[in-house]
Amino acid sequence: MRPFKHFHSPVPDLLQNDRRKDELMKMMVYALDEMGYKLSAQKLADESSVKIEKDSLKIFEAQIAEGVWDQAFQTLKESNLPEEKKKRFAYLLNETKYIELIMHQKYPEGLELLRSELVPNCPESEKLKTLASILMCSNKQEIEEKLETKLDIPELRKQLVSTIYKEIGSKYMSPANRFNKIIQQALSYQELSCKYHLNPDENSGLLEDHICQPGLYPSKPYLGFLEHSDEISLVKFSNKGNMFVTITKGCEMCIWEFNSHSAAPKLKKRITKIHNKDVNNVTWCPNDQKILTASSDKTVRIWSVETGNLLLTLHSHLEVVRSVLWIPGTSHFISGGLDPFIIVWNTRGEEVNRINSPKVAELLVSSDGKKLFLVCASSPKVAIVDLLQQAEIDQVRERNPIKTAALSKDDKFLLTHVTGLTSELHLWNLEKYEIVQVYDVHSHPSIKLGISIGGATNEYIACGNEDGTIKVWHRNHADPIVVLQNHNSTVNSLSWHPNNPQMFISASDDKTLCIWVSEYLLNRHKNGLSVNLSQDLMKVEENLALCENLICEFEEEV
Ligand SMILES: [Zn+2]
Repeated sequence: MRPFKHFHSPVPDLLQNDRRKDELMKMMVYALDEMGYKLSAQKLADESSVKIEKDSLKIFEAQIAEGVWDQAFQTLKESNLPEEKKKRFAYLLNETKYIELIMHQKYPEGLELLRSELVPNCPESEKLKTLASILMCSNKQEIEEKLETKLDIPELRKQLVSTIYKEIGSKYMSPANRFNKIIQQALSYQELSCKYHLNPDENSGLLEDHICQPGLYPSKPYLGFLEHSDEISLVKFSNKGNMFVTITKGCEMCIWEFNSHSAAPKLKKRITKIHNKDVNNVTWCPNDQKILTASSDKTVRIWSVETGNLLLTLHSHLEVVRSVLWIPGTSHFISGGLDPFIIVWNTRGEEVNRINSPKVAELLVSSDGKKLFLVCASSPKVAIVDLLQQAEIDQVRERNPIKTAALSKDDKFLLTHVTGLTSELHLWNLEKYEIVQVYDVHSHPSIKLGISIGGATNEYIACGNEDGTIKVWHRNHADPIVVLQNHNSTVNSLSWHPNNPQMFISASDDKTLCIWVSEYLLNRHKNGLSVNLSQDLMKVEENLALCENLICEFEEEV
């Protein structure tokens, strides 16, 4: 048998231990029986001397359901249960039998049973008092009030069976589907231990340990850009992924476009001095025809992607605007910052709504456009607001200030960058509202780092660092799977390609951008493009041509 590779100590041989061996045989007999191999189950039971309790239990259960108490007592007596269990279950049978006698107004028999069986065996005196008190009841309703339960004979008997099954213990009865559960647990453990785990829905085989192929996360630089004359603070892919926008600390905006005729993305528009103060956030409208920017100059601006012209300047904010974003599924966008309110706008730049809000460092929105995540600027919390009700419905609370946050595409995870004495990323599970993983980052508390959740099933966490490196983690593991080195100063912003989970772009204080791809994409190109794509990668097929062209050009440059 192949040893289980994740265990550090030798795998104990189950068959060396008599108890384990017995349990294993029992599980196998029940598993065969559950799978319909009745004859094999019986043969194995005979050969291994495992008693199949199931049949006698079924008979016992049927006897209780029919209320044939004498037969049920006889079955219990003949069972191989220890005396203590037999006594306990006999008491439970008598208790139900007694309640039924009183319900049928058979008082003398009830009284006799109470005296002979319940008084000497009832474990709690309070319970006994209650049971005795129903002797005085003249109808079902009074009994129900005393026992504080609805009385229905089939239901009463079902409850009795379920109590007995709960108390009977695995030694005498293998719980249903036990073999299945153990296998499932082993598979889950292997998947959780898998450093590169990608496909949660894929069925792992049983004959080999599960391991996903490495090399499908962005890990290789394949295109660097030097055209910026200033530190780059923001980068963002368009919704289709065929363009991206960059913004420098000197308020210059560049729009880049990939097209089929050229290998590298071409500069489409360069617009200088787009705001009078820092640009804090940038977003694309759903059809990628406009770009919205939010600035410390207290305005939100709308730009035409085609002409690069300023279309509108929105002046309603009284303070610094930190964030602007489109509300998915609507024709509205929302902006917020250090004002005590956030504003909902329509595409003409008219205020649709003004919602009271704490000062926000950043805004995020769920993919259905229903929930807004307000990263608070003056307290360490993310308030979760229902946009329809315009009310806070939940919150994620940290101990230290939250510098920035990111939401996974499936809205299941929130990543917070928390800066206190140490700088950490916390991954929150938004179904359980608990931190499921902590990742160490190194940065000064004043520095806002580029962070992102990416990958086909949101399995990768990426974070730029002050030293110019980018760490990439698999969501389940605290140790990074790769540390990327191509920048030599703080990485301010990261943007994952919207359709290609093996590609992201980074922007740095060193005035450069870098597009990162997976080793798989790079190798595929090196091997002459004739590699068959596995099924799970088919969805990125359409982006591959684009990537390969880029790789070509990158390698020519190198
Ligand atoms: Zn895996």
